[in-house]
Amino acid sequence: MKYYIITYGCQMNCSDSERIATVLESNGYKKASNIDETDLIVVNMCSVRQSAVDRVYGKIKDFTKLKVKNQKLKVILTGCILKKDRRKFVKYFDFVLNIRDLPKWPKILNSKCKILNTNDYLKIQPKYFSFPVAYVPISTGCNNFCTYCVVPYTRGSLIHRPAKDIIKEVKELVKKGYKEIWLLGQNVNSYKSQISKINFPKLLRIINDIPGEFWIRFTSSHPKDLSDELIKTMAECKKVTPYLNLPVQSGDDKILKKMNRDYTVQKYRNLIKKIRKKIPDVALSTDVIVGFPGETKEQFKNTAKLLREIKFDMVYIAQYSSRPGTAATKMDDNVPQKEKKRREKVLTEILKKTALGKNKKYIGKIVKILPLKWKKEFLFGKSFHCKSVKTKGSKKVLGKFIKVKIINALPWGLLGEQVV
Ligand code: SF4
Repeated sequence: MKYYIITYGCQMNCSDSERIATVLESNGYKKASNIDETDLIVVNMCSVRQSAVDRVYGKIKDFTKLKVKNQKLKVILTGCILKKDRRKFVKYFDFVLNIRDLPKWPKILNSKCKILNTNDYLKIQPKYFSFPVAYVPISTGCNNFCTYCVVPYTRGSLIHRPAKDIIKEVKELVKKGYKEIWLLGQNVNSYKSQISKINFPKLLRIINDIPGEFWIRFTSSHPKDLSDELIKTMAECKKVTPYLNLPVQSGDDKILKKMNRDYTVQKYRNLIKKIRKKIPDVALSTDVIVGFPGETKEQFKNTAKLLREIKFDMVYIAQYSSRPGTAATKMDDNVPQKEKKRREKVLTEILKKTALGKNKKYIGKIVKILPLKWKKEFLFGKSFHCKSVKTKGSKKVLGKFIKVKIINALPWGLLGEQVV
């Protein structure tokens, strides 16, 4: 029996797929090299935006065709699924399963389970897909209920993994040669291990002290929970990379209130000042939603102004799309699509300039990168500051740290020459 996993969405979904693979393989399934030769397809979906849900709808026809060829084929839908979508999808899939029920999947699939003596899916040992990068969830779910977001409904309430499990997992990964460890959670800043009471900065310090050459990255951070202790920890821990994604979502206080973000623009500004004071070379990225219900042109201009002022290294811009079941669905989605597009374009133009300005500062400097891809004589990887870097080099150094002298900068990345 063979399985094939299709993963949409964020790193957390990728990490979940790695646990799904473990459960399937421990029940006799082997990974199929392509979708045509599989007996089981798992679609690990994302409901964060309607476009992601539409991608799953788009796949249904393909599954029907595959089922004509292979009548034993079963298709499972899992991941972040909204109740409304679940009701619609149920007729097209053999099983629609909750990821938190992963330990029970073998029973549901009617196979004999050998290894799962846990009810906690995060205790399942993942089958890592992306050596030398590893995703390590430290929590799942969220209690914040930002009014536009599906996560509290699809992933459920916040659960923290015990610190000892996380530390053990990272130690094993480092032993196996993993070089980039991503600590994942919907809001890592609010992490607190229930038993040991270890908070996120303390967890970072413990992981930083694990011997070995590796980088520690994390996502996502909520501005309301980003403490001085965390900033100090980032500044002092040499393996914690000086890169921070701090989603602002809007540069207007009234919109932030409607989003239920629990901070003001001024509080966000102050945070950025503190971070830059302690970590002068930090690379900062943010997330912004344009066209939130009721966002006026003036309110949008406040976001544009904030982006010009802060000069982010990167901004992930999303046009607002109403997600069923969230509080924002009850608000009037009154910004026309064309206007949302225009606002996205305006912010992209600002970003191009600020990102280029930030990247130019690396010209002439020697940076460490972790090359992960090789194509036509070129290596592609990320630097310590999470910048995309392209350089000529041999395939042999894939997955190993190398030094590169930056010779040119573009808005979305750097060009370098390998230093031997
Ligand atoms: S903190 Fe993040 S995951 Fe949680 S509700 Fe807000 S946007 Fe969603």
